[in-house]
Amino acid sequence: MGKLNVTVLRYLTREDFRVLTAIEMGMKNHELVPGPLAAAIANLKTGGVHKLLKELCKHKLLSYERGKKYDGYRLTNTGYDYLALKSLTLRGSVSSFGNQIGIGKESNIYVVADEEGTPICLKLHRLGRTCFRNVKSKRDYHGRRHKASWLYLSRISATREFAYMSALYDRGFPVPRPIDFNRHCVLMELVNGWPMTQVHELLDVPQVYDDLMNLIVRLGNSGVIHGDFNEFNLMLTDDGKPILIDFPQMMSTAHENAQFFFDRDVTCVREMFRRKFGYESEDYPKFSDLVREDDLDAEVHCTGYGFTKEMEQDLLQEYGMIDEVENAEEETNDEPPTLVPAEIDECRRQLENEVSYSESKPTQQKSDDAIRRYIESCTQ
Ligand code: ADP
Ligand code: MG
Repeated sequence: MGKLNVTVLRYLTREDFRVLTAIEMGMKNHELVPGPLAAAIANLKTGGVHKLLKELCKHKLLSYERGKKYDGYRLTNTGYDYLALKSLTLRGSVSSFGNQIGIGKESNIYVVADEEGTPICLKLHRLGRTCFRNVKSKRDYHGRRHKASWLYLSRISATREFAYMSALYDRGFPVPRPIDFNRHCVLMELVNGWPMTQVHELLDVPQVYDDLMNLIVRLGNSGVIHGDFNEFNLMLTDDGKPILIDFPQMMSTAHENAQFFFDRDVTCVREMFRRKFGYESEDYPKFSDLVREDDLDAEVHCTGYGFTKEMEQDLLQEYGMIDEVENAEEETNDEPPTLVPAEIDECRRQLENEVSYSESKPTQQKSDDAIRRYIESCTQ
């Protein structure tokens, strides 16, 4: 965890916001977005895109990079954080920012507050950045394949987490209440409890053991496996009730690797109880005991999150849950993207969608300042 570059974001004008969003749209198909493509997508009436791009680089929301064959702009972490936090702020889900409270394997966790001032939890998904693993490629507008980017992976990770958390919460599972999500950010209830990693004593060890095993079985009977059921992803309330967190890697019990991950989750609990509490029991669930009672796994795929099988593949691969699929063709960045009218039209349409909501709101100087102060003060 390094210190965040201290950035001096001034208030972003609607043109800045448009240009920043144009780079995001361009990055759906290219690792780097060359200036002319950015200009075509942003479609500013006044022109002057290049000056704005330079300014956004100065404020570290964008960076200008040299690719193997062509140069272009990309969003930085800060730029992506900014876009997501701006959306969440505009729709009133967040109104102030607090401190970082946790760092996970693939995320940073912060306390923020909603409009009533209630503390809530913000999880920023950060995938595929530190080590650029060989992610399954996907086709772009040109019919070429390129590596799935951190932007794409972090976004589908957050989407998948929100989808699972919602389906679980609706069924009364002990999980945080999901509040909202945008891009790579998830907002959820702040759990009032202790991370299991910090718990070294329990009033009723066998009871908590049973609660956890019953939770694994109840998930299984609903058609899902958590897949990372360990003390880092379990919290305990003051009255000793477990709460499960961290869902992007969950999978269906119908998945070909399901039994492996079910057994691994069960073994994790047994190991943890042996190690921490000297407790061993011959009583533990088997995959073959599961009785399908619900289709939570299917629901996550049909509830309008736009989640495809291909996305699931890419993500589970990134989480190391499934083997990497051989890349049919290598990543590109060999030729500068040409200006394909269909691509530009599609990007412009998405851009208008993004900015029209923000432009329909009164000037948001106050909330932009809050986001700026937050980004300045936090570490990532
Ligand atoms: P990762 O996917 O990176 O492992 P997690 O969702 O497991 O991220 O969160 C990392 C840590 O942040 C957790 O171990 C926990 O201590 C804390 N945390 C996460 N979500 C919450 C929450 N809703 N309330 C309180 N603390 C949380
Ligand atoms: Mg975790």
